Amino acid sequence: MNPEISNSDYQLAVQLLGRDPRTPFAVKTRCGDGSPQVLIADPVFLEDGIWKPFPAFLWLVCPRLKILVAELEQQGYIRKYSQQLETDEDFRLRFLSSQTQISAIRVEMAEKLYPGELPEHIREILTETTIAGSRDFRGVKCLHSHLAHELAFAGNPIGADVINIVGHCSKVDNCSHLNKGGNLE
Ligand SMILES: [Zn+2]
Repeated sequence: MNPEISNSDYQLAVQLLGRDPRTPFAVKTRCGDGSPQVLIADPVFLEDGIWKPFPAFLWLVCPRLKILVAELEQQGYIRKYSQQLETDEDFRLRFLSSQTQISAIRVEMAEKLYPGELPEHIREILTETTIAGSRDFRGVKCLHSHLAHELAFAGNPIGADVINIVGHCSKVDNCSHLNKGGNLE
């Protein structure tokens, strides 16, 4: 467990995540009601001598945003943004720049965790994948990771457009409570 988060916070974050976290994490951003919104996981984890990279290290856990983003995905927004990456050069350059930024953050975190130990193939995975964990820098893959990127570090044009559409979480949204209503994906 990350020592920077309280036990109840950790329990809520894991409950919202809905699975075994598999790697240590911290709460990066919070919803208007104070509940965990985006978790930032260690991008690499050495367990029993085995290196495990987690290039998709920003986890969107807010139930409200997860539901709204899933709706956008159902409405064809992944394809819409994929097409925009092909046809809109400014959008593409901003997207590529944001992925370079996230690669640098990931490698820096990994080097801090394991100074001088990072194997080359792990460094390569952390450097050469998008926030969605894809090697295709013109691919979108899933909107959740791009929104998580935008909320955590800003600069991701796909995530920025998504948050414009769905809106930031306010206190009255009572995000963590949605989880108890069984509305999770
Ligand atoms: Zn929220």
